[in-house]
Amino acid sequence: MKESVADILQHYNPEEKELILKAFNLADSAHEGQKRKTGEPYIVHPLAVAKTLAQLKMDSETIIASLLHDTLEDTSMKEEQIEREFGTNVAFLVSSVTKLREVDYHGEHGLAENFRKMLFATAKDIRVVIIKLADVLHNMKTLDALPAERKKRYAREVLEIYSPIADRLGIGWLKGELEDLAFPYVYPEEYKKIFSKVEKMVLENKQYTNFLKPLVQKYLKKEGVKVVSINARVKHLYSLWKKLDRLEGNIEKVYDIVALRIIVPDVQSCYAALGTIHKHWRPLPGRIKDYIALPKPNGYRSIHTTVFCEQSKITEFQIRDIQMHQEAELGIAAHWTYKEKVNPFKKNLAWIYQLKNWQMASDSKEFLESLRIDFFKNRIFVFTPKGDVIDLPEGATPVDFAYAIHSDLGDRCRMSKVNGKPTPISSPLKNNDIVEIIVDKNKNPSPDWLTFAKTSKARAKIRDSMRQRGLIK
Ligand code: MN
Repeated sequence: MKESVADILQHYNPEEKELILKAFNLADSAHEGQKRKTGEPYIVHPLAVAKTLAQLKMDSETIIASLLHDTLEDTSMKEEQIEREFGTNVAFLVSSVTKLREVDYHGEHGLAENFRKMLFATAKDIRVVIIKLADVLHNMKTLDALPAERKKRYAREVLEIYSPIADRLGIGWLKGELEDLAFPYVYPEEYKKIFSKVEKMVLENKQYTNFLKPLVQKYLKKEGVKVVSINARVKHLYSLWKKLDRLEGNIEKVYDIVALRIIVPDVQSCYAALGTIHKHWRPLPGRIKDYIALPKPNGYRSIHTTVFCEQSKITEFQIRDIQMHQEAELGIAAHWTYKEKVNPFKKNLAWIYQLKNWQMASDSKEFLESLRIDFFKNRIFVFTPKGDVIDLPEGATPVDFAYAIHSDLGDRCRMSKVNGKPTPISSPLKNNDIVEIIVDKNKNPSPDWLTFAKTSKARAKIRDSMRQRGLIK
C-alpha cells in the first residue's frame, strides 16, 4: 500500500507530501479492518480515488480530502478532527463529498435531488465535484461486486449525471471511461451487439492507421511541419453507439472509429498540418471543424477533418497543439492554478453561475426537465453583432438569446434580426447565427413566449413578469 502512496506523492512538494502521507495514515487506520465489497481492504478505494486526482494534477488539498472522503460516513472520524489536522478547506471538501453520498435514488425525484446537490456543490467549490467523479470512477470499476439491481441503478446514474458533468467540465477521457463502464450494465443487449460488430473493425482500422502513420509523418516533415506525436485514438463504444443511433445504425458512415491524432507544438503548426493533409488527400465537404477558432462550449479545441485517404478509405484527423491536448485530457483541471489563487471559473463555467443564480422551480419534474435542456442538450453558439459568443441549447430562439444577455433585453424584445434578416423571435436559431435584438421599451413578455422559449432562464423570467402583472399566480 505504501508504494501506491509514493506514486501520488511525486507530484507534490515536501510540505504537501508530508500532509498527504499524514492523511493516508489517518485514513488507513480509520478504515482499519473494513473491507470493500470486492474483499479488498477498504483503503484501496480512497487510494485509487486520490491517484486519479493526482493524474488530473489536482492540488494537495484535493488529494488529502479524497483520501479521507469516506471517513466521516464510515468511520468514527469527526469533521472537527479533519479541520484541526488539515484546515477548513479540507474539512469542507470532505463533508461536501459526504453530503453528496447521502442521496439515494428514488426514481425521478431522487435524481433531481441529486442534480441539485451536485450543482450547488459545483458552484461552491468545483473540487467537490471532481473528487466525486473520481470516486464514481473507482466505484464503477469495482461495480461487479454489487447486487444486480444496484449495479444497474448506479450505472444509470453515471450515464445521467456524472458523465455529462465530466463532459461539461471538459474532462474528455473521464467522460468516455465512465460511459463505457456504465454501458454494459444499463444496456447489456445493445452493448453485446455493438461490441461484436465493432471488434473486428477496430482491429482493421488500427492496422490501417499503423500503415498510415509513417506516411503522414513523412509528408509533414517534407512540408517542415513540426510534430510532437501522432497516435491512433479509438472511439469509445458508448459514444459510437449513440452516434450509430443518429445514423440509423449505418456503421459505414462512422468515419472516426479510429482517428489519427496529430499533436504539434503550436497553433500555427495546427493549420500547417491541416494544409499538408488537404494537399495530399481531398477533404470531405462540410467535415472540417475548426474548434480552435470556435471552441466547444466546454472549452474543447482542435481541428477535425475527414479526408478521402489511402486505400480509398475515409479517415478522420484530429490536429491540436500540446496545450490544447492537455486541456482536452484534463478539462477544467488543466486551468487549475488554485495555488496562485487564479479563478479557474472564468468563462467556461459561466453556466454554473447561471444555474446558481436562477430561481429553481419548486416542482422537481420541471426542474429536471429544464436541466435536461440547459445542461445536456446539444449546444449551439450564436453571436452578438459585436462577435461575442452566446452558448445556448439546441432549439433556442431569439427570446432565449435576449434573456441570456440580459433580462431587460428579454423583457423588451420585440423583433429579431438573424444574419441581418428580420426573423420572428420564436424561430429556432442555428449554430453560428448572428443575432440582433430589436427592443421596444414599452413591451412586456407575452404569455405565448412560453410555448417556444427553451432555456430555464428565459422561462423563469417570462413567468416572473406575468406574475408581476397578475397574469398568473
Ligand atoms: Mn468513496
